Amino acid sequence: MVSHAKPAYFIYQALESFLSFLHPIWQRIGYQRTEKIFAFTERNIKGLLFDCQMCGDCILDKTGMSCPMNCPKQIRNGPCGGVRDDGHCEIEPEMRCVWLEAWRGARILTPSTTAVPDLEILLPIDQRKKGHSSWLNKVKDRQNIKNIRVHQSDG
Ligand code: SF4
Repeated sequence: MVSHAKPAYFIYQALESFLSFLHPIWQRIGYQRTEKIFAFTERNIKGLLFDCQMCGDCILDKTGMSCPMNCPKQIRNGPCGGVRDDGHCEIEPEMRCVWLEAWRGARILTPSTTAVPDLEILLPIDQRKKGHSSWLNKVKDRQNIKNIRVHQSDG
């Protein structure tokens, strides 16, 4: 999918915005009720396309559409230093390092002359989100941020 990072990225962003737009509907149905359907759909679609491991905190848009949770060490901020000369993983020699793939995808998304594009430093994963829909988590996070801003401007 990294080879098709550009269309995948735009579809991903559009889907996220669309789901956020539908927040009032999810709220009315109840986030807990929608969780199962979302998690099922996400697991199957993203599992097929990105080998998604359902971390619940998707960062595909920040890693060139390469899922870092497929790294055997699950490192979310760049390769470990054990990458083999052929670009494969030191633990799983058959597998290409997900971070080399992330850089390849990032260069497709933002053409850069440097071999190592600047990627955002990410916070450690919140293990409580594991197995849950990252789509819904993002919608909820966006809504919480909006609410905080409204609250701050009122106060
Ligand atoms: S970053 Fe998380 S939610 Fe996104 S594809 Fe990978 S495991 Fe799935």
